[in-house]
Amino acid sequence: VIAALDVLEEDPTFDCGRGSFLNEHGHVELDAGIMEGKNLKAGAVAAMRNFLHPSRIARDVMEKTNHVFLVGEGAEQFALSYGYEQLPPEDLIDPRELIVFRQWIARGKPNAKIFFTSEEAKALREGRSIGAKPEERGTVGIVVALRTDASKAWELFAGTSTGGTPGKMRGRVGDVPVIGAGVYADNESCAVSCTGWGEGLLRIVAAQRVAAMVNAGLPL
Ligand code: ASP
Repeated sequence: VIAALDVLEEDPTFDCGRGSFLNEHGHVELDAGIMEGKNLKAGAVAAMRNFLHPSRIARDVMEKTNHVFLVGEGAEQFALSYGYEQLPPEDLIDPRELIVFRQWIARGKPNAKIFFTSEEAKALREGRSIGAKPEERGTVGIVVALRTDASKAWELFAGTSTGGTPGKMRGRVGDVPVIGAGVYADNESCAVSCTGWGEGLLRIVAAQRVAAMVNAGLPL
């Protein structure tokens, strides 16, 4: 999961790591969450500035602390203490996102949910580009099912990484790093990674809801 997220966070095509949407101040702020389905172990970070790989840091929160979720300055300090490099802010900004940011200002700084015109929202749903680059894409998620000789049973893993939504308030956290909302894995049911409007996904605890439905044998 982390190896795949690493690649996607480095690739400016996606709304995660380098190339993320910018917040209302024109900065990148990153969220990521990961989970293992065997013991329901999880790690997450949110509102992190100037780190390329929030997913790795989320993994370290899971493996090296007694906690599940670190945010903002505390998460940044934690990352520094484990040797992660804090980059100059412009290192994570793709020129395409400056165009989107200026567009957002020109349109009167609308809420992310109504920022995109219906034509653009349709294009995004269909995986077509709306920005300056044809390969523009959104939040990323990885789910993995692994069966080893040692485990015998299927082991499930999930991870989600995002820069959030365009023009979001500073400190805004969506569904992605919230365990059960944007990411969930339980060997008893399934592994889930969500994308979409974080505020809505948070309210319905989307990922855990899907897992509970699968567990109960309900149709999705
Ligand atoms: N769910 C993400 C968020 O609200 C955005 C996305 O999936 O595109 O932060």
